[in-house]
Amino acid sequence: TREIQLASRPVGRPAPENFRLAETPLPELQDGQVLVRNQFISVDPYMRGRMNDVKSYSAPFALDKALDGGAVGEVIASRADNRKVGDAVVHQLGWREYAVVDAGATTRARTELAPPSAFLGALGMTGLTAYAGLLKVAEFRAGDAVFVSGAAGAVGSLVGQIAKAMGASRVIGSAGSPEKVARLLELGFDAAFNYRDAPVRDQLKAAAGEQGIDVYFDNVGGDHLEAALSVLNVGGRVAMCGAIAQYNATEPPAAPRNLALAIGKQLTLRGFLVSGQRQHAAEFAERMAGWLADGTVSYDETVVEGLENAPRAFMDLLDGRNTGKMLVRL
Ligand code: NDP
Repeated sequence: TREIQLASRPVGRPAPENFRLAETPLPELQDGQVLVRNQFISVDPYMRGRMNDVKSYSAPFALDKALDGGAVGEVIASRADNRKVGDAVVHQLGWREYAVVDAGATTRARTELAPPSAFLGALGMTGLTAYAGLLKVAEFRAGDAVFVSGAAGAVGSLVGQIAKAMGASRVIGSAGSPEKVARLLELGFDAAFNYRDAPVRDQLKAAAGEQGIDVYFDNVGGDHLEAALSVLNVGGRVAMCGAIAQYNATEPPAAPRNLALAIGKQLTLRGFLVSGQRQHAAEFAERMAGWLADGTVSYDETVVEGLENAPRAFMDLLDGRNTGKMLVRL
């Protein structure tokens, strides 16, 4: 099978020479396994951390081995009772054209609800991150004013729409281009700004007005987190989902200089991983399917064609060239 390997560890921004397209033989299918032809692979920011050789919540990628990550594809051979040829399945052996996977490590994509790619995005890990991060981690309540950074991205765009659907009094988003800001307003955000135009703190203050914000869903960290701390109301809650502003950093970033505001404002800052939110997966799937069906929530995808272009897709993701979920179609 053709696969994308990590050829060297990026220092700072990843470059094409950090990746390699290689051809390796497929292992023989064993009892309990399925052979999947991957149709879409998920391109995710957390992969940047796994390219460093440091201990983290997920193991570093090995050099000269295929990368892995979420994928959806079609079962083309099966030696498992519960999976048959033709099933669409989600699994973790992306970044290759064909994968031999333990059937127990696959979940069925309910393609009667949505196209296969949605199970990597709105109906998959991305959607659960948005749903559980907002409702369970940040403990969103109807009437809250919400700010989400990375708002035109896969997770962020869902967070804003879920907040609106659940009765937010105001939803504010930030993103990195005028086109993305316009898209957020189309998606129903009450206000949106381009963080490149002026300091985040000034723009957030102006967008929030007297009302302030009660919840901050942080995808970015850095200046965005610092701005949110200064605009959050007493008793405000922060879901710490990601810190993409620092993923390519070669030096440790400065902490928010105003962190002590968390004391006087009695804030709650909670980090989370979607892997720790699986107990909400069934509730999420049912609600999200309903929201997609009735048009309450819509999602964007940026689709790059061809496995050989997957490294480019990853670099583009970190550079903000995606709107909504970044995917590679094989
Ligand atoms: P996105 O679709 O949001 O893509 C990443 C976006 O980040 C880019 O499009 C870009 O948009 C923005 N970005 C890049 N660099 C910067 C920067 N320096 N400052 C501000 N924005 C930047 O990806 P996802 O939706 O998949 O992920 C969003 C966040 O959620 C990430 O931080 C990710 O690590 C995190 N995450 C966490 C999970 C968890 O379990 N905790 C699970 C899944 C995701 P722009 O043009 O606006 O700059």
